[in-house]
Amino acid sequence: MYIISSCLCGNACRYNGSAGEIARYPRIRELLAQGMAVPVCPEALGGLPVPRPPAEITGGTAADVLKGQAKVVNINGNDVTRNYVEGARKALEIALQAGCTKAILKERSPACGVRAVYDGKFNKHVVPGDGVFAALLKAHGFTVLSDEEL
Ligand code: SF4
Repeated sequence: MYIISSCLCGNACRYNGSAGEIARYPRIRELLAQGMAVPVCPEALGGLPVPRPPAEITGGTAADVLKGQAKVVNINGNDVTRNYVEGARKALEIALQAGCTKAILKERSPACGVRAVYDGKFNKHVVPGDGVFAALLKAHGFTVLSDEEL
């Protein structure tokens, strides 16, 4: 079973209110049709609205965020760390209960990014790293793929 970023499944939960283009992801369409995919949006599960201001990890890595040693801050300067940590934990719980061992997540998101995220300065600069949910899944032994690896 796969836990999958909800926006990649065509749900309009992205920060700007849009959905991912599911037409681009035949593998995800196949998994959904087979009942092998569980869509989650960790940002929404953390209580954030749609749409919402964009946010980035600052002061460390996603693993540091989970340890309380770095933050997630939105473009207005508001600390949304608690939303990201709670959302990631709730999404992990859903994944475990559904028997998921693999994930397909949206690259560069501060929650779902797998190999790259923005650098925390809101200048569109990308750095190696993962999002808070991706880091939590990896720490629990999940195989985590980016949508860009499909
Ligand atoms: S948190 Fe993940 S699932 Fe939700 S909109 Fe962002 S990338 Fe998509």
